[in-house]
Amino acid sequence: MLSARTLPVLCALSLISLACTPPTGSQQVGPDDEVQAVVVRVAGALDGTGGRIGPSDIVVVNGIITGILPAGRGRGTVYDLGDAIALPGLIDTHVHLGWHFNREGRTQSAEVQETPQESVLYGAENALVTLRSGVTTVQSIGAPVDKELRDAFARGILPGPRVLTSLSAVGAWLGDDEAAYRERVQELAAEGADVIKIFASASIRDGGPPTLSQAQLDATCGTAAALGLRTVAHAHGPESARRVAMAGCTTVEHGALLDRATLELLAERDVFYDPNIDLVFRNYFENQDRFLGVGNYTEEGFDQMRAAVPKALAAFREALTVPGLRVVFGTDAVAGAHGRNYEELVYRVQTGGQPAMDAIVSATSLAAASLGMSDEIGTLAAGMRADIIATQGNPADDISALGAVSFVMIDGRVARRDP
Ligand SMILES: [Zn+2]
Repeated sequence: MLSARTLPVLCALSLISLACTPPTGSQQVGPDDEVQAVVVRVAGALDGTGGRIGPSDIVVVNGIITGILPAGRGRGTVYDLGDAIALPGLIDTHVHLGWHFNREGRTQSAEVQETPQESVLYGAENALVTLRSGVTTVQSIGAPVDKELRDAFARGILPGPRVLTSLSAVGAWLGDDEAAYRERVQELAAEGADVIKIFASASIRDGGPPTLSQAQLDATCGTAAALGLRTVAHAHGPESARRVAMAGCTTVEHGALLDRATLELLAERDVFYDPNIDLVFRNYFENQDRFLGVGNYTEEGFDQMRAAVPKALAAFREALTVPGLRVVFGTDAVAGAHGRNYEELVYRVQTGGQPAMDAIVSATSLAAASLGMSDEIGTLAAGMRADIIATQGNPADDISALGAVSFVMIDGRVARRDP
């Protein structure tokens, strides 16, 4: 990831928003060219760490926020967003960017052959609706198609969120030998994975028992850490999550059946918890006919998911009371759920009882921390990448305002601006 902080911070300190030398590694600007600043003028802002800011001009130069000034003080091309409230672009730490309904309206499967070209365009469509909904970074958990999407969006022409991807996953299919787990992690790192996805438990549709031993998890997360890669582990039940925590993995995904002792262990071991408690289930139920009959999407599997909903909600509520536990935003968005990511946050607040500001932090600075990107995204401050969204209404007062996104900027480029 680029590190472009130092110079823009100096620019901001001197309150000069024009003619700051652009950070290296960004678009081509000659040393004598004047860099045009863009000013996002808003009635207020949430900084992503729990802070509220009054009427502001957020000054952006070359894709980086160079300063946040009182409204009216910024110089440059002004996007006056009226009474809108700005906040950092949302970060969804768990999506499946490529999952889509195919030309027959069913979730993709081997039954309907698709060309790679078709598949990548479905992924691009998912990415566009995700970005326009206000999610500027996703961690896709993960398929090979993510790589081309990630790299294409990073070129800055095709609109899409910043993508981090696991490309594939590590799981019990590798066999008993720990060496196979080390090798697979090394392969994925070489292929360009940003993160390693691990199936440490079975699906909730199969009851979610552990599938990997402590030694296998130690090998996987230890090898990844040595390579500088984070690890996210699908783990539904307490035993699988406990092994994940003891192995030093980065994040527990889902954790629908976790008890207090396990949640406390996650806090103690500094493991992030990414519960997915609403959107993924509700989307499956709403689109049941489009999934039923594919893989483990059986009537029984759907019954298991229905039974899991109240358990996942209970685990989430318990998690909010565990001191020091870092609960991050992730949806597990599959076909049908892309672009509706924020609905998970609305549920967490309105049904789960999380304070709205905490939910926003979980999807901004805290999510960035879980991705190891705190220095770049998730906070509105000088030196951060200009991932800025704006809503009609203040989501810290009414979380449903996240459904009224009217402006989206990523890396300083405007991806949405409603009249
Ligand atoms: Zn998932």
